Amino acid sequence: MSPLLRVRDLCVDFSTADGTVRAVDRVSLDVMPGRMLGIVGESGSGKSALWLGVLGLLSHNGRVSAGTAHYLDTDLLAASETARAQLRGKDVAMIFQDPVAALNPIRRIGKQIAEAIRVHENVSAATARQRTLQTLKDVGIRNPDLVAQQYPHELSGGMCQRVMIGMAIACRPKLLVADEPSTALDVTIQAQIINLLSELKVRLGMAIVLITHDLGVIAAAADEVAVMYSGRLVERSETVALFGKPAHPYTKALLDALPQPGARDRRLGSIPGQIPGASERLPGCRFEPRCAQAIPRCAVEEPVAHLDADGRFSLCHLAGALPAEAPR
Ligand code: SF4
Repeated sequence: MSPLLRVRDLCVDFSTADGTVRAVDRVSLDVMPGRMLGIVGESGSGKSALWLGVLGLLSHNGRVSAGTAHYLDTDLLAASETARAQLRGKDVAMIFQDPVAALNPIRRIGKQIAEAIRVHENVSAATARQRTLQTLKDVGIRNPDLVAQQYPHELSGGMCQRVMIGMAIACRPKLLVADEPSTALDVTIQAQIINLLSELKVRLGMAIVLITHDLGVIAAAADEVAVMYSGRLVERSETVALFGKPAHPYTKALLDALPQPGARDRRLGSIPGQIPGASERLPGCRFEPRCAQAIPRCAVEEPVAHLDADGRFSLCHLAGALPAEAPR
């Protein structure tokens, strides 16, 4: 099966008062049709900048400085802004962390969804309204006629996120990018939103990119996982394999920091230090100052990508082999 989206060696730079900083560095990955890819990493790892770059949504001081991104046969980086705008919302949609801020506060919910449909499809107002009500039902809103007449401030955060998801899927995109879609919501609503995304993936056959800092969310929903650290992709594998046996020391450290059901006396792990700033340039592995398994060459030599026989990707000197040198 061919990928829906192919990203190769993508770099994203931002111009700042201190000069140019690289937020995303040589990231390559594929998004397969009908699958959910979880992108996980700490704040500052570049996970959101990567997707804003791919979709042409970077702020004025950001730019994709190298690499390629193809949606099927469309070269996203070479396409005109008009062509990209047409693609966004119809074939590829994105939802954001704060649904209340993303909705227009002075327009009724129904009008906002109908507008999203009519921008991309040549349908009558009556058809758009009927599709709007069906879309609200699709995202689990029980009284669509009432909600369509309401304004965003009349809805809870969870309902607003359902509306945002509805707006994103109204034109039945093949790819939905969800950037921390449940972070601003309380825990029970978070679970409902993640369940809704999983259900829509199956029902509509959509591929989903789920960006989050929460490994628990990834474990519950994603088919495969890409772990980012300091702008680089450090591990990518099937979710079950990653949780069963992480290949990269950073992934392992993240998992060690998660509570385990039934292990009440276990002390949670923590990762010392902090993620390097985007302008900080380290000669070797960027995780080296915090890595419990670092060996001397890690400080001076950048690791190269390693793919194992099962297609698992890892960016680590120790990948695929037991350490030849003793950990420090
Ligand atoms: Fe740790 Fe070295 Fe692997 Fe980096 S390359 S993650 S420092 S063992």
